[in-house]
Amino acid sequence: MKKSLIELKNVSKSFRLESGTDLRVLHSVSLGVGEDEIVAILGPSGSGKSTCLRIMSGLIPASDGEVLCRQQPLDGVNPDVAMVFQSFALFPWETVYTNIALPLASLSLSLSDTKARVKKVIDLVGLEGYEEAYPRELSGGMKQRVGVARALVMERPVLFLDEPFSSLDILTADTLRAEMVKIFLDKKTATRSMVLVTHNIEETVSMARRILIMGTNPGHIRREIINDLPYPRDESTTGFRRMVQQVYASITEALMPDAPAPAEASTALARATPKEPPIETLPNVQMVEMIGLLEAVGDRGGRADIFELAHETGKEFGRTLYLVKAAELLDLVETPKQTVILTDLGGHFVAGDINIRKRMLHELFGLLRIVQMASNLLRKSENLRIPIEELAERVGEWLPTENPHQIVEALVSWGRFAEYFGYNDDAKELYLDVGQETT
Ligand code: ADP
Ligand code: MG
Repeated sequence: MKKSLIELKNVSKSFRLESGTDLRVLHSVSLGVGEDEIVAILGPSGSGKSTCLRIMSGLIPASDGEVLCRQQPLDGVNPDVAMVFQSFALFPWETVYTNIALPLASLSLSLSDTKARVKKVIDLVGLEGYEEAYPRELSGGMKQRVGVARALVMERPVLFLDEPFSSLDILTADTLRAEMVKIFLDKKTATRSMVLVTHNIEETVSMARRILIMGTNPGHIRREIINDLPYPRDESTTGFRRMVQQVYASITEALMPDAPAPAEASTALARATPKEPPIETLPNVQMVEMIGLLEAVGDRGGRADIFELAHETGKEFGRTLYLVKAAELLDLVETPKQTVILTDLGGHFVAGDINIRKRMLHELFGLLRIVQMASNLLRKSENLRIPIEELAERVGEWLPTENPHQIVEALVSWGRFAEYFGYNDDAKELYLDVGQETT
């Protein structure tokens, strides 16, 4: 048995929602991270992968169960962990050098020690010559190198990688994957283990020794697959293809117990889920907050870099992304790469007064397939209303890989705002808002 660095024992996690209900996100998750291994957590979006990382890094507490760091209960932030984010999370107004040096500020190192540490990681990730560049001057791949360097400079034994390559193009992602494996194998850094969160099967097979497959509702670990292919791994070998097939098959089995085995392996987990006909999932955000984001884009001439938008509005990047997704779903913005652009509709919306906005939201919300399906259910019900739990059950059938309570939560809050649905708090029932008081 490898020396245990981090362990979760029967960890469950719930979040209290604005409606007062608890959203169960993780159920009895047990997993360990040992020395000298790369562990991958593979699961669909919303299955609680990032929540697992946050709990292991001590950023949020578990609701139940134990969190151990080197076999001792974890108290506060885990001192062994450094994190690399999908969003890069760089400060746009700071240079590459400063972005990497910033986390060292808390260690009160001498200036020369700081410089030595930053130089070492800059060389390691291939950023020589870019020290004085600003993030906006860098490609996505180079930005993520800064993200990696900033984590490595902390010299901590465990590196958490939360979907680190999913916003990069395929070639860049491949290169960076290979470089991360090399950093792991070479042992020139303090990094002894990595935990990779992803929904990309090939990524887990090329990097991880253990692959934990997560299921949803609430998030839990369905299976562990040991991948002992020798490093560095070569995608073109039969062993690699076979392992991809094996992971793919377990996921398909986990999601659709009766599905026939696939003929051809797919790269993305999303493709393992039948999306016919497509029903949108709703990000769980407030309309008011989404409108605030649209206004912020409007203030910037109808076009903004999503990353800068997050910083300038003081919102967490993930939160900003959800708000953008919500606006995109309603056709109010488009998002080529990392840019958010108001559509014609979006421009009209931002320029409009409250009445125009309400009317537009009502129309656009009504165009969503999931809204139409919910409306049909309501129309077919006896008294034009349905208990919220029943709706959640149906949503769970429509979107088997999503958390139905979260979607229902969004349906209710968006629906109320758009004056499309009404919600009776006492009876916990949803009804069609037909412009008159029906309660
Ligand atoms: P993943 O990383 O697998 O996509 P997450 O761990 O980010 O999933 O989220 C799992 C679920 O928990 C999602 O439904 C998400 O909306 C919800 N969630 C995460 N953080 C919070 C929070 N702070 N408050 C409420 N719900 C949350
Ligand atoms: Mg995540």
